[in-house]
Amino acid sequence: MTAALTSMTFPHAAPPAPGEFIDLAPGVKWIRMPLPFALDHINLWLIEEPATADDPRDGWTVVDTGFGVEATRALWEQHFAQTMGGKPLKRIIVTHYHPDHLGNAQWLAERFATSAGPIVPEMSLLELVAAQAVAVGTGGYARDALASFFRSHGLTEEQIDITANRGNTYTFGVPTRPVTCQRIVPGDSVTLGGRVWSAIVGYGHTPEHLSFYCEELRVLISGDMLLPKISTNVNVWPIYALSDPVSEYVNSLQAFKYCEPDTLVLPSHGLPFRGIQPRVEALETHHEARMNDLYTAVADGAKTAAELIPTLFRRQLDNHQLFFAIAEAVAHVNHGWHVGRLTRTVGADGRIRFALAG
Ligand SMILES: [Zn+2]
Repeated sequence: MTAALTSMTFPHAAPPAPGEFIDLAPGVKWIRMPLPFALDHINLWLIEEPATADDPRDGWTVVDTGFGVEATRALWEQHFAQTMGGKPLKRIIVTHYHPDHLGNAQWLAERFATSAGPIVPEMSLLELVAAQAVAVGTGGYARDALASFFRSHGLTEEQIDITANRGNTYTFGVPTRPVTCQRIVPGDSVTLGGRVWSAIVGYGHTPEHLSFYCEELRVLISGDMLLPKISTNVNVWPIYALSDPVSEYVNSLQAFKYCEPDTLVLPSHGLPFRGIQPRVEALETHHEARMNDLYTAVADGAKTAAELIPTLFRRQLDNHQLFFAIAEAVAHVNHGWHVGRLTRTVGADGRIRFALAG
């Protein structure tokens, strides 16, 4: 192994313009799609696929698919003709179920169907299960489950109304979902573009996020697990209300330390970078600092997760951001509770409050 880098470097100063691409490594291209949020873009990756015995066509694999709306699909049409040179999409890999990643998977699968049928996306089974459950709002993803979860953690009725009752925004971004997948199990190797890539599991952001590492190319497609500037959203939803995703996330990051130190990281948001080690260390420090802020904030008395949102997010949040902010606040108080620094009590008013232990 070469020596670890002490700081991050960014080999490309700017992303590809809409409809254009940047070559990153042999056979690996970077394209970018818009998102209708404060976080306004996602990076997607195209890998050239040679002909195989099973499929004698030259073509492409895509890793993640973009938000499932017309603006993205119009750009996809440009990429089909130009970036992909009219060659077919043969495989679809999805890192996790979020709409910017899975949004166009089924549309692409059908668009490039062959006589054998639509392309079957390759992904974690838990992520497809989550997609299907969120899309219909069942069980722990049901609207009433969300509303009572938000209420117990201190959101006001007005805030609950705009978060739990805002309609199903998931199906807006993922209008059609795959009904089947070719399952990738954490630790599996997949051959993409004739090279071996290992599937590295990540917890804390979604149920079973997959990143893909090619040692030969020294490239890591990190998805949302390792981002260069912003910290990944770690969250608690009613389906795993008592869990500790901060620990799950930080523990998952340790696997990236086994990548070669000069690995080029391809994140879903922001610019590709080198410097896994310093980035992982910065994220560990970030979550420790957040926890210390929380411990300070409850020193003068027990608080709900909602009351701690301003401690974690020192900026004005829109409704979309509030939805993820409460889930992230619960993740952090749950972590303090799991490690024994916070107590968790349910008051007579049904509100869950956290205070310093001991
Ligand atoms: Zn995500």
